[in-house]
Amino acid sequence: MYLIGVDLGGTEIKTGIVSKDKGIINKVSIPTEANLGAEKVAENIIKTIKIISEGKLDRVEGIGIGSPGSIDRDHGIVRYAPNLPFHNFELAKAISDELKIPTFVENDANAFALGEWYFGSAQGLKHFVALTLGTGIGGGVVSHGILITGKDGIGAELGHVIVDPDGPLCGCGSRGCIEAIASARNTARWAKEFSIKIPDNMIVKLAGSIDEIESKHVFMALEKNDFVAKMVVDKITDALAKAIANFAHIFNPEMVIVGGGMSKAGDALLKPIKEKVDLYLMPSFRNSFKIMQSSLVEDAGILGASAAAMYHSR
Ligand SMILES: [Zn+2]
Repeated sequence: MYLIGVDLGGTEIKTGIVSKDKGIINKVSIPTEANLGAEKVAENIIKTIKIISEGKLDRVEGIGIGSPGSIDRDHGIVRYAPNLPFHNFELAKAISDELKIPTFVENDANAFALGEWYFGSAQGLKHFVALTLGTGIGGGVVSHGILITGKDGIGAELGHVIVDPDGPLCGCGSRGCIEAIASARNTARWAKEFSIKIPDNMIVKLAGSIDEIESKHVFMALEKNDFVAKMVVDKITDALAKAIANFAHIFNPEMVIVGGGMSKAGDALLKPIKEKVDLYLMPSFRNSFKIMQSSLVEDAGILGASAAAMYHSR
C-alpha cells in the first residue's frame, strides 16, 4: 500500500508516492500557478498525483497535503495561506471528490514534525520539537505522542517566540521573534547590514556583492573563519539557543530537530547552538535532550505530507 505526499508551495507543487517502508518511490514537481486561482491549484495537485501514481492509484491509502498558512485540519480547509489563492477553500474535498481517496491537509511545519516522526530522526519518540529554518521559521511539537495544535489548530507557532523585545520588527507585527532574527532571510539581512560597515569580508566576496548575499554565503564564509560571518552566526545561534531553552522548559522534549534550508549548514549552525543553550537552561534541563539536524533534507516536505495522512487517519 502507498501514500501520496503533496508539498504545496507558492511557486511549486512537489508530489511523491511513498511506501511506508521504502520512503519515496517516485516524485514530480510542477508550477503551482497560484495566480490562476484556487480551483486551478487543486487541479494541478490532482495532475501531479495522477502522474506519479500511474497504475497504483487503487493501492493509495491516503493523500496528505502540507500547506503553508492557517489550516482547519478537521475539515481539510485552508483558511488562509500566504502566496496561495486560498481563502476558506475546501482543498481536501476538491481532491478526494475527484480521486475518491481520503485526503488530509496539514500545516507544512506540523507536517515536517510528523515526517521526522514517521521517517526521520524522531522515530519512536513521544516528546520532541521540530523547527524549520527557511525564509520564515516554522515549528511543530509532539508531546505525549500527540501533535500539539491547540484550540483553533494554529498553535506551535514556534517562530514567533520573542527572544529580544527590542529586536528587529517581525512580519507578524511583534519585535524580536526568532523568525525576525534567525530565519534564512534575516540571516542574510544581518550579513548585508554588517557588510555595509565592514565591506571587506569573505561573505561579500563569495556572494559577488552585498545585494546578492544569501544565508548560504554566511556559512561558506564561516568555514573560512570570516570575522563578519562569525558575528552573524553568533547573533542567530544565540537567538535560537534562547528559543530552544524556552521550548525545553515548556515541553521537556527528548529531542529538538532543526530542519529547513538553513539546517544544511550542519554543525556550523548546531555546534554554537548546543554550546549556548546551556547558558539559558535550568540546571536540571542541561543534557536532557538532543539537538539534531533533520535527516530528511530535500524530501522533508513530501515525506511530512504523507506522514500527515498516516497520522490523521490513524
Ligand atoms: Zn513574529
